[in-house]
Amino acid sequence: MDRRAVERELPQLSHAPANLRGVIAAERRMLLVHAHPDDETIGTGATMAKYAADGAHVALVTCTLGEEGEILVPDLEHLAADKDDALGQHRIDELAQAMKELGVTDHRFLGGPGRWRDSGMMGEPANDRADCFWQADLETATGELVKVMREVRPQIVITYNEVGGYGHPDHIQAHRVAVSAFEASADPGRYPEAGEPWQPSKLYYMALPVSLLKQGWQTLKELGEEAPFGVTSPDDLPFGDPDEIVTTRIDARDYLENKTAAMKAHRTQIQVDGPFFALSNDIGQRAFGLEHYRLIRGTPPPDGEMEEDLFAGL
Ligand SMILES: [Zn+2]
Repeated sequence: MDRRAVERELPQLSHAPANLRGVIAAERRMLLVHAHPDDETIGTGATMAKYAADGAHVALVTCTLGEEGEILVPDLEHLAADKDDALGQHRIDELAQAMKELGVTDHRFLGGPGRWRDSGMMGEPANDRADCFWQADLETATGELVKVMREVRPQIVITYNEVGGYGHPDHIQAHRVAVSAFEASADPGRYPEAGEPWQPSKLYYMALPVSLLKQGWQTLKELGEEAPFGVTSPDDLPFGDPDEIVTTRIDARDYLENKTAAMKAHRTQIQVDGPFFALSNDIGQRAFGLEHYRLIRGTPPPDGEMEEDLFAGL
């Protein structure tokens, strides 16, 4: 299916709902830039649900449809082999359902659904496709995000760190585009056709404190997993942030149920008997209800205190 056909079928997803166009009434506004459907829920779902429930405007931009995702449910495996990327179409619906669970009404795909394709894991042939996000022209992709930024006018922008958290090309590219748009959005000389300049106040990277990750590893080990997260020792974990660089902890444990329901909405991507749900019981209260961030731009809290609100100091 080509992009225009997708947009004809899914007009409600290709643009913000009509009542969101123009000026958004909410005083507090945040924008999250993610690579694939489900990343938003795994990494930031509880935060999104909490702030949406608190009356903040929560906007999600997803950069690809996740066409290269591994399908974890046997009865949907046929989607993977489909030459028209049926999996991507399917994941549009999964994302919409997940956003309902989180109470988030403003979700969009960068440049419209299907504008850039999932690049697959680093080193896969999908990385070389001209239509994949990894090959996206940075100026063009930045322009698309600047448009959204100037419309939503978020004080808070959230994305991945330089290595995309764990090295997926689309996560790295999402980081580049988000940082580049954060800079460009306030500059009247750049993308003049994309709306009135807007300066977001704070830029955050999602963070995963190593201490928490090690506890999660330990729990999974005790539950009988040979090599949780793919490693046999917690010291070999290939991702995670040193605790001392984590600046912000959002306690959204009251929204753990929303996050879990949203995770289940991403049906092709999640095994209900897999590690996510194993962890979402005891330690999961902390592992998934407390979400962590690293403040990159904006005024840090005094004396290196741990921030507990993304809008703190604004
Ligand atoms: Zn992803």
